[in-house]
Amino acid sequence: MDLEQENRFLRQRLLELNREAQNNEATLKRFHSRELELLTCDSLPELLNSLTDGMQNSFQIKSIQLTLKDSEHEIRHLLNNTGIPEDAFPNILFVDDLEEVNHRYRNLSSPWLGPFQNPECNSLFRDTRELRSIAILPIHCRNEMIGSLNLGSSSSDRFTRHHAYDFLARLATVAGVCLENSINRERLIISGLTDPLTELHNRRYLDRRLDEELARASRYHQPMSCLFVDADHFKKINDTYGHKAGDTALRELAVRIRSQLRANDIATRYGGEEFALLLPQTTLDEALLLAERIRLEIANTPIPLDDGNDIWITVSIGVSETLPMLGKTPHKELGDHLLSSADEAVYLAKKNGRNRIEFLQDEHTLQTSLQF
Ligand code: GH3
Ligand code: MG
Ligand code: MG
Repeated sequence: MDLEQENRFLRQRLLELNREAQNNEATLKRFHSRELELLTCDSLPELLNSLTDGMQNSFQIKSIQLTLKDSEHEIRHLLNNTGIPEDAFPNILFVDDLEEVNHRYRNLSSPWLGPFQNPECNSLFRDTRELRSIAILPIHCRNEMIGSLNLGSSSSDRFTRHHAYDFLARLATVAGVCLENSINRERLIISGLTDPLTELHNRRYLDRRLDEELARASRYHQPMSCLFVDADHFKKINDTYGHKAGDTALRELAVRIRSQLRANDIATRYGGEEFALLLPQTTLDEALLLAERIRLEIANTPIPLDDGNDIWITVSIGVSETLPMLGKTPHKELGDHLLSSADEAVYLAKKNGRNRIEFLQDEHTLQTSLQF
């Protein structure tokens, strides 16, 4: 090679290296901004969204799937509690055990890049069409693999084992830390709004939701009903069978009440042996039918105790209904009225002999129906 040729070759190489450095810098920037976005997510749904759709858009990935181990369905419950159905995230697969996804993949300690193989890799993606190469980024949390982020490309040389994967590994580490933080934060919020004995929501949660639900009801001009369910002579149950048996009975009451509700009904333990149920889009007639189903579900079958005893228990139920008028009455006032009417109706049910249902119709409803 003469000097001129060598010079040309070196200049060419230098250009290539320069281009590579520029590419690397662009890649680094892209990874940095992804990491930053993950770190600044405010909630679990936002984080999951950023990990799937956000990642897919910013890296222009053909197919993406976040696989998460959720054997106790806790992550899904946390999502439900924020009002988000699990099918809101089609690119997330929740599994009981990572083994069921792929037996080899469970022990991945660093990203795996290589060709897409059929059928071995099928469960790693929802849409496997046109996939040629894939990257599996294992996500760890306290040294345990809790899932993976799977990226799939239609180009066979996008992910190969010759590619450096440091950026991807770093991103997966950040994802793991963010997921853990976010799940913990969501747990804390829930624990402040959940009754530990029955696992129903508590009164604070009801107060929070009442405003929201009334706003929705007035926007769409829909009725809303409220049920107060109070156990009859509960003090006597404690006195006869003991406090622990009383707790068992309360837990069972919660289960039976919940068994009669629809997904968007809100069940809370309002006080000791009293439950308040908020029923959006439910008329008084429908609420009365539901109240009767709950009453029978409890009265007809005794609650078995661990010691072999059976407790027969009944409840008194107060029902109220409101049809909020758009902007007519402040929601706070309407909410208070809905609850106090149901409470008064329970009092009436107690007075009239217990194990029965009484109702009070909200005066706003009467006004509204007259106007129509
Ligand atoms: P009524 O039919 O008029 O409602 O009579 P009651 O005995 O149910 O009503 P009262 O308000 O007099 O008593 C409620 C009882 O519920 C007293 C209280 O000790 C009991 N209780 C409240 N919370 C719990 C709990 O978490 N566990 C147990 N075991 N008992 C509870
Ligand atoms: Mg009672
Ligand atoms: Mg009571």
